[in-house]
Amino acid sequence: MSGCDTLLAELGLNMERHGELVENLGRTYREKVLSQPDRPASMAYFDSAIHELHGDRIREIFEARAAGRKMIGTFCIYVPEEIVFAAGAIPVALCGGTAWSIPYAEQTFPREICPLVKSTLGLAFSDTCPFAPLEDLAVGETTCDAKKKTWDILGGDGFHVLHLPHKKTDAARRLWLREVRAFAGRVEHLTGVRITARSLGQAARLMNRKRRLLGRLAGFQRSAAPPISGTDALVVMQVALVDEPQRFCGAVARLLEELRRRVRQGVTVARPGAKRVLLAGCPAVAGNYKVHHVIESSGALVVANESCTGSRYFEHPVDARRRTRGGLLAAIADRYFRIDCSCFTPNDERVRSVVRMARRAKADAVVQYVLQYCHTYNMEAVRIAEALQRAGLPSLTIGTDYADQDTGQIRTRVEALIEGLRS
Ligand code: SF4
Ligand code: SF4
Repeated sequence: MSGCDTLLAELGLNMERHGELVENLGRTYREKVLSQPDRPASMAYFDSAIHELHGDRIREIFEARAAGRKMIGTFCIYVPEEIVFAAGAIPVALCGGTAWSIPYAEQTFPREICPLVKSTLGLAFSDTCPFAPLEDLAVGETTCDAKKKTWDILGGDGFHVLHLPHKKTDAARRLWLREVRAFAGRVEHLTGVRITARSLGQAARLMNRKRRLLGRLAGFQRSAAPPISGTDALVVMQVALVDEPQRFCGAVARLLEELRRRVRQGVTVARPGAKRVLLAGCPAVAGNYKVHHVIESSGALVVANESCTGSRYFEHPVDARRRTRGGLLAAIADRYFRIDCSCFTPNDERVRSVVRMARRAKADAVVQYVLQYCHTYNMEAVRIAEALQRAGLPSLTIGTDYADQDTGQIRTRVEALIEGLRS
């Protein structure tokens, strides 16, 4: 057993199943990410971060906890990371992106829920998630029905649910601010650390830097001759949700430097005549590269990603100039309330945002990515397709799960879209 395996066994993981999971994740990564030609050399950091999610990163968090820090598991980008960092705690996104764990969820739970939720539940119930034994608090939110009921199953004393209202009214904004303040109180209680204006300001500036760097990466992705693929940009986003932020910012800064050099040297990952696609909709968390891979191995390029593993995560900085704790909490609440998840009604901002992003990225077409049984993105796809049609932008909606069985079918539809664009 390696040192890490010994630690994982001590944490109570089922090592046989964990071995299967890691093998499965490794194979997917090799086939869909490492197989890409002409990758930037700086992607090595992000490949290693994904590889070490169940290795060095676990050891790092284990040691941080031994030194008195707390780990907070999250499942959604509405959880304000600034508050977690301001209390010296470590946030880690725990959403499942692998089909491997889904059968473990389906033994007990309905099949008719989205694969992201099933994969997350399956990791928890197969005793293969190394973060679960390390988390001091898990934070859920009232976004979609599947998640709300998941918190009832996973819940307990070590669980906090953020009530996210679904309308962007002033009353809803006030309710959300109360939720954000209550969350800060809960984190303070957990960590025994008072969150101050100073610590919140520092955390907000750090997260703003991280978001700014990711925004610059998106700028390269949508440039006329992109020096990075959409799949690699997705990997960077996936790492953003789990990595130590200072180190992550350094790695993104080095990647950006290399991308600048590539642009100067005329190096691009776009094949001649490649069609440009905006991918919009559900997030693709670590382990899930399915639709990105199909699009990019069909000769098109994902030049922008409107999702929680894309623009929704890095748009809108926090106004870090506020000087008081209350002012900063209000600025943080405002920033997160601007996220346009499909759980909101009405959600005109998102409809407009997809059209605007497609134009800005000079996309030839939009592919809407809807995870099976995700009703809000599925329904919203209809409005967005209509808005895109009015804007003269072709689009395709793909509803799918994490399994590979329908990959051929999806490829046929994507190729038909690309063929249509060419002719
Ligand atoms: S899609 Fe909505 S519920 Fe899912 S992570 Fe994003 S904001 Fe949260
Ligand atoms: S993909 Fe849709 S159904 Fe699944 S957790 Fe996110 S919002 Fe809920």
